[in-house]
Amino acid sequence: MKLVVTGGAGYVGSVSAARMLEAGHEVVVVDDLSTGHADAVPAGARFVEGDIAEVAGPLLAEGFDGVLHCAAKSLVGESMQDPAKYWNGNVVTSLRLLEAMRDNGTQRLVFSSTAATYGEPEQVPIVETAPTRPTNTYGASKLAIDFAITSFAAAHGLAGVSLRYFNVAGAYVAPDVQQLGERHAVETHLIPIVLQVALGQREKVQMYGDDWPTEDGTCVRDYIHVLDLAEAHLLAMEHAKAGRHSIYNLGSGFGFSVKQVIDTCRQVTGHEIPAEVAPRRAGDPAVLVASSERARQELGWQPKHEDLASIVGDAWAFASAGRGE
Ligand code: UDP
Repeated sequence: MKLVVTGGAGYVGSVSAARMLEAGHEVVVVDDLSTGHADAVPAGARFVEGDIAEVAGPLLAEGFDGVLHCAAKSLVGESMQDPAKYWNGNVVTSLRLLEAMRDNGTQRLVFSSTAATYGEPEQVPIVETAPTRPTNTYGASKLAIDFAITSFAAAHGLAGVSLRYFNVAGAYVAPDVQQLGERHAVETHLIPIVLQVALGQREKVQMYGDDWPTEDGTCVRDYIHVLDLAEAHLLAMEHAKAGRHSIYNLGSGFGFSVKQVIDTCRQVTGHEIPAEVAPRRAGDPAVLVASSERARQELGWQPKHEDLASIVGDAWAFASAGRGE
């Protein structure tokens, strides 16, 4: 297939684009480099630097089979302080992309959605039919795009798939491949932060609350390896069906607490990693664990890197090689 990957200079987008290329697809990456890195665009992909809202029309007129839409604003805290950035950057931009796809007859769309569309869950593991009550603007903006995709599928025959990611971690660090991993200017995610402490780039890690209703009092999350996520994008692109919008949760189905993550990082890195308890972070649910049964059954998806130590090990290989900066 001939594919466009938006956000292909970012973390999930670059690894997914690399996987698409390996599977024999032709890939054009579109990225405005607002948070991505030009050197993360996979070798073998054509790179168009620019704003998707402006670039999508002329580019899709060249004739493409599908779009993998990973480009997004994705900082929860920022989304609460500057909501317009999220309604414009996520919703308006995605609408322009959908219109360009409609106008140019681009059939398939795989969209990077998020567990943040669910908000505080009533039940875990979370299934796709769970209520969607996002607790932050980031999640709300992603949910709005999901609704837009549903209506474009119904009205225009779009083959749409939304993938709701849980906590993505790890890196693509195999020998003889371009090393691809997490490199955020403002790092908010637990595993990269803990590894920065291991590298001496931060003094200590703060654990946001130890009085949550969980076994050890810290929040529980479902960590999924970015390579398993990339595989799901490939399968989703292949399985997308005209006139349908399918939604899949992607997680490993296992929950690990903040304390367990820090302990695993200590074991993997051999560093002490000082940690202290800090106040709870606004908007954090106590437990987020995915049911990915639907993705396994309908897409034939099988995560291969479920072991937290191997996820952390790959993230560590990337960060300690000085690539995580
Ligand atoms: N967390 C933490 N200290 C940090 C960063 C994160 O205790 O410096 C916690 C956070 O409260 C959450 C979990 O680690 O319970 C995962 O947070 P992250 O930001 O990585 O992902 P999220 O679950 O918010 O998408």
